[in-house]
Amino acid sequence: MKKIHYTIVIPFYNEEDNVAMMIEKVAGVVERLTGNYEIIAIDDGSSDNTFKMLKSQRCKWPELRIIKFRRNFGQTPAMQAGIDHARGDVIITMDGDLQNDPEDIPALLEKMKEGYEVVSGWRKNRKDNILRCIPSKVANILLRWVTGVKIHDNGCSLKVYNAAILKKVRLYSEMHRFIAAFAFLRGAKITELVVRHHPRTRGQSKYGFSRIWKVFIDLFTLRLVLNFSERPMVWFGAFGFTSLFLAMTIFIVILLDWHRQIVWPGLILLLAFNAFIFFGYGLICELAVLHGKRR
Ligand code: UDP
Ligand code: MG
Repeated sequence: MKKIHYTIVIPFYNEEDNVAMMIEKVAGVVERLTGNYEIIAIDDGSSDNTFKMLKSQRCKWPELRIIKFRRNFGQTPAMQAGIDHARGDVIITMDGDLQNDPEDIPALLEKMKEGYEVVSGWRKNRKDNILRCIPSKVANILLRWVTGVKIHDNGCSLKVYNAAILKKVRLYSEMHRFIAAFAFLRGAKITELVVRHHPRTRGQSKYGFSRIWKVFIDLFTLRLVLNFSERPMVWFGAFGFTSLFLAMTIFIVILLDWHRQIVWPGLILLLAFNAFIFFGYGLICELAVLHGKRR
C-alpha cells in the first residue's frame, strides 16, 4: 500500500458553498509538497448539499476520502473520526469554511521539522467579532492554568500533529479545542506559529453564545479529571476514612452513654454508609483509570 505522508482532516457541516474551493485549495497546496497525501472530509450530518458537493470532488481529487455521519454529531466527533481513519505520518486539521488558509500548511510543516510533534496555528490577527474573541482569550488563559500548555490560540483548528501522538488522544464533548493541550499532557513537544485568518464569506458560523458556557464546563471537567485521573483512591479514600473515623468516634460516645442519645445511631449508619460510598466510587474510578491505560 502507498505510504501516506500527510492526512488533512476537515469537518464540514452545512458548508455546500465552501466545499469545492476548500478541497481545491488544500489539494493545490499539499500537492506542491508531496503526491503521497490524503484529504479526509467528514460530512457531519449536513442537511444541505455538502455531501453531494464532496462526492463531486472525488473524480477530480482521488486523494479525497469522505466520511458521512447520519446526523450532526458535532465538530469534535467529526474530527475524531477523521483522526481515527488517518493513514498519514502527519495529520493536519483545519476548518472547512476557508477561515483557515491552506497556504499556511507548508510553514507549519517546516516548523515541525525543527523537532516539534505539534505545531499549533495562532490567529494573531483574528477576523471574528470582539464578543467571540474576548471569551476565547479568557478560555486560553484558563487552559494554560489548568494544563500548563503555553500556546495562545487553542481554538484555532489549523494545527499539524505527529500522527502517532494524536492517535493516542481521545476526544469527547467539545474538546477538539483542547487537542494540543491533551497532546502536551502526553509529553508532546509543542509550539505555535502565527497563521492567517479570514472572515467567513460563505455559510454561517455553527456556534452561538452557548459555546462559551460549554467551553467553560469542559475546562472545569478537565481540571477535575486531571486531579483525579492518576490516583482517584487517594482522594476518595481520604473522604472515606474521615467518614469512618467520625462513625467510630460517635459509636464510642454512644457506648459510654447510649440510652440518652437516640439520634447518634442514625448518624453512625449514615457516616458508615458514606464511607462505603466513597470507597466504592474510588474503586470504580481506579478501575476506569486502569481500563483506560490498558487500551
Ligand atoms: N462543524 C462541524 N460540525 C458542527 C459544527 C461545525 O463539522 O457541528 C465544522 C464547520 O463546518 C467548520 C468547522 O467545523 O468547518 C468550524 O465551524 P465554524 O466555522 O462554524 O466555527 P467558528 O469558525 O465560528 O468558530
Ligand atoms: Mg469558522
